[in-house]
Amino acid sequence: MKLFLAMMSHETNTFSNVPTDRGQFEARNLHYGGEILETFRGTGTCVGGMIDAAERHGARLIPSVAASASPAGLVTKDIYGHVKERLLADLRAAGHLDGVLLDLHGAMVTEGHDDGEGDLIQAVRAVVGPTVPIAVTLDFHGNLSGDMVRGADLVVTAVFEGREAAAGILDLLGVASGARAA
Ligand SMILES: [Zn+2]
Repeated sequence: MKLFLAMMSHETNTFSNVPTDRGQFEARNLHYGGEILETFRGTGTCVGGMIDAAERHGARLIPSVAASASPAGLVTKDIYGHVKERLLADLRAAGHLDGVLLDLHGAMVTEGHDDGEGDLIQAVRAVVGPTVPIAVTLDFHGNLSGDMVRGADLVVTAVFEGREAAAGILDLLGVASGARAA
């Protein structure tokens, strides 16, 4: 089982005039590839739970990009574009995938996208096609949109039980991919 893993998490306050730029992400989390596994393995975070569950299932993880920043104003076009382009490039390079795990927030607003997560999920769906399951974890402060719900197969809010929620999602994906293979 081969699973793609990425995080893009920001709680945006559109009343704030402090832009959330690349420096704000670098100050908290902006990691790539295998560095993501080293940073989050064993932590009680959603990504940590996804990693633990994947390793327990013997799944191969394709870690792409993991970005988060403190709550502030709009996420700049520069950093959102960078994370999105990196994620989609890795997705295209990954070849066949059994599932996609995305740790998002649900209240991200970027310069140009009022529904940041909806834009990202739809872009991922456009690359992987209709049959690869996409599982998403959100913060309790996330706002569900039509683009998010239509684009993803599984959406859970996981702020307190991130590890368990992520592991549960992976169990579901494992069942789903096993059923398809049978
Ligand atoms: Zn929150």
